[in-house]
Amino acid sequence: MTGLVVAMDGPSGSGKSSVSRGVARALGLRYLDTGAMYRAMTWWMLREGVDLADSAAVAARCGEPGIVSGTDPDGPTIHVDGVDVAAAIRETDVTGSVSVVAAVPEVRARLVARQREIIGAGGIVVEGRDIGSVVCPEAPVKIYLTASAEARARRRTAEVAGSKVEDHQAAMAKRDTIDSTRKTDPLSMAAGAVELDTTALSLEEVIGEVLSLVKQRGSSGGASGAHEFPSGRDHIHERT
Ligand code: C5P
Repeated sequence: MTGLVVAMDGPSGSGKSSVSRGVARALGLRYLDTGAMYRAMTWWMLREGVDLADSAAVAARCGEPGIVSGTDPDGPTIHVDGVDVAAAIRETDVTGSVSVVAAVPEVRARLVARQREIIGAGGIVVEGRDIGSVVCPEAPVKIYLTASAEARARRRTAEVAGSKVEDHQAAMAKRDTIDSTRKTDPLSMAAGAVELDTTALSLEEVIGEVLSLVKQRGSSGGASGAHEFPSGRDHIHERT
């Protein structure tokens, strides 16, 4: 790998997409939303009428859809067999089922292989749940974004007109539980990752923190390199 890879993991609503796109834009890198790939797989399964409770049925068919991700941070795209599904994958039916589909090992094996192909030689910011731990453990910069459950739900509520904080908070808690307790590649903070709590930070502040980490780590080329943080910055924690 010759180019930089920034691995951006964390639970839903922690700000991964906005931060990843902002960082990619600032550094002239590509951007990959791996959650959109799991959503696209789920959209296809629902359209095909596959019984999602039957993991063997999901596993048997997960090689069929052709999922293509565009990596421009100014306009990321996602197609399934030539159909633009960017809007459809954000609908509640997909959101409510994606974690079940993403827990199937065969689905993960297929999409992780595809993600590694897209990462290729690097030069990319990749967001997901298992990027620093599984997809690209060698990434020199690994971030784990968090925020309080309430802040995460509030952000989602602001994105969806007419929706309620309590509904988002309950739906996110359910998804987080499935994502972090599944057997294959659960959501976890990777070794060498830096945890950034975004609860009290603006988007610009979070992007600024990530860019300064990239400056320190991306150029020194190692996730294990010692890293000094100024004191009094309790929104940042490092896992060694
Ligand atoms: O990031 P987003 O909320 O769109 O992800 C949707 C779902 O896809 C997650 O809740 C999770 O179940 C799954 N996912 C995953 N691994 C990733 C990215 C997303 O399991 N790397």
